Amino acid sequence: MKKLTVLIIVFTIGFFSSLSGQNKFEIKRKEMVNKQIQARGIADKNTLKALEVVPRHLFVPEEYLDQAYDDGPLPIGYGQTISQPYIVAYMTELLNVGPDDVVLEIGTGSGYQAAILSRIVKKVYTVEIVEELGLAAKERLKALNYDNVEVKIGDGYYGWEEHAPYSGIIVTSASEYIPPPLIKQLKDKGRMIIPVGSPFSVQNLMLVEKSGDKIRTKSLIPVRFVPLTRQSAP
Ligand code: SAH
Repeated sequence: MKKLTVLIIVFTIGFFSSLSGQNKFEIKRKEMVNKQIQARGIADKNTLKALEVVPRHLFVPEEYLDQAYDDGPLPIGYGQTISQPYIVAYMTELLNVGPDDVVLEIGTGSGYQAAILSRIVKKVYTVEIVEELGLAAKERLKALNYDNVEVKIGDGYYGWEEHAPYSGIIVTSASEYIPPPLIKQLKDKGRMIIPVGSPFSVQNLMLVEKSGDKIRTKSLIPVRFVPLTRQSAP
């Protein structure tokens, strides 16, 4: 009887502490959306909802668990980073995509941006050049049931031609110029968001809009992204 009582107490404590652990992250996430995202002017409902539901803490290395909802980027290994929540929200809103759209992301990293987009669009294709990161993201997205995301290991400079054209393309690493294959794989009236500039300094986040054969670019805000690396020739 005594044993049973102890067991019940241990179980109850365990149950409630795991519940409060979940709640803790939910509260932090709501706070992140209010103070970092909405307060800075992001108003798109789908974007806000996606940031509120995707568990960012499951996309960062365990040692950064407590910083997962902080107002900045975090290391994810291999010299790469998961972007600041506000930047993820800003780029997502600007892409202006909806439930019928198919989008391409270059630079899967942790898979967080892909998970956010997957809550908004029909299908997300994402390309990662670092095999270890790509495989880990693929596993993570599968474990969390993000079934409408497909990850490919490869050089995203060339996009993912098989599933083109895309309504939106989001590039999460910086390039000196807009890769022509990505322009080609963008749908007519489609939008691309890409940081353009030197990989060793501040870059410009650019909005690229395609209209027939024409391309219109608009410089948005200064950003600092890791470089778009290229696969060296064999
Ligand atoms: N979107 C990611 C953050 C990405 S950081 C997230 O939500 O976590 C940028 C990523 O781009 C890194 O993982 C880096 O390895 C990848 N990358 C750099 N050059 C690339 C290329 N040519 N093709 C595909 N991915 C590339």
